[in-house]
Amino acid sequence: MSPNAAGIVERTLVLLKPDAVARGLAGQILARFETVGLKIVALKMVMPTRDFVARHYPNTPEWIAGMGKKTLETYKDRGLDPIAEVGTTDPMKIGEMVKAWNIDYLSSGPVVAVIFEGLHAITTVRKLCGATMPFSADPGSIRGSYSSTSAVVGNATKRAVRNLVHASSTPEEVAHETAHWFGTEKPCVYRRADEDVLA
Ligand code: GDP
Ligand code: MG
Repeated sequence: MSPNAAGIVERTLVLLKPDAVARGLAGQILARFETVGLKIVALKMVMPTRDFVARHYPNTPEWIAGMGKKTLETYKDRGLDPIAEVGTTDPMKIGEMVKAWNIDYLSSGPVVAVIFEGLHAITTVRKLCGATMPFSADPGSIRGSYSSTSAVVGNATKRAVRNLVHASSTPEEVAHETAHWFGTEKPCVYRRADEDVLA
């Protein structure tokens, strides 16, 4: 059975966030994905507006509360009082704050948006990115290779954690995010020279 017939050829969306572009790491980061055989099928540089970035995120109550809970965990781990830090213990309110920090972050400079195609692309890309917090991301991963920051720094400075890349984590996110960043633009269809060897 061909990989395509087995349903393991996937597409996924990656954003090189403004810190990656500003640090001149776009080429190196794209190379990490290309080297494992992931194929660039769409790519553009965008200076996104706040409104556009706000619509990138799911914005469901579950997603917002989840962000709030993660931030509360960091405060707890560090023995910090959320009331003193952000004036509330309500996960929804804190989640809204983190969402606003993400909107500030992603609209702060140019972003490179890419659709990659390849075997198990969603999982492979997330693995290459590494854990959300660079300080706990594996050393060989993108986040672990280029940063050691954490939620402690982000929360203290009231900013989203600068972790260089975004990658869709589910087929639902892929569908929403590819449509959001590329609209009706069609990904390019072509064969890479090494496709037969890598597949
Ligand atoms: P990802 O899928 O690994 O990017 O992580 P999430 O979807 O959970 O979070 C989205 C983004 O929000 C992350 O990439 C970080 O930039 C930022 N972020 C996540 N959790 C926190 C947090 O606890 N504090 C701060 N300051 N930023 C966070
Ligand atoms: Mg995410």
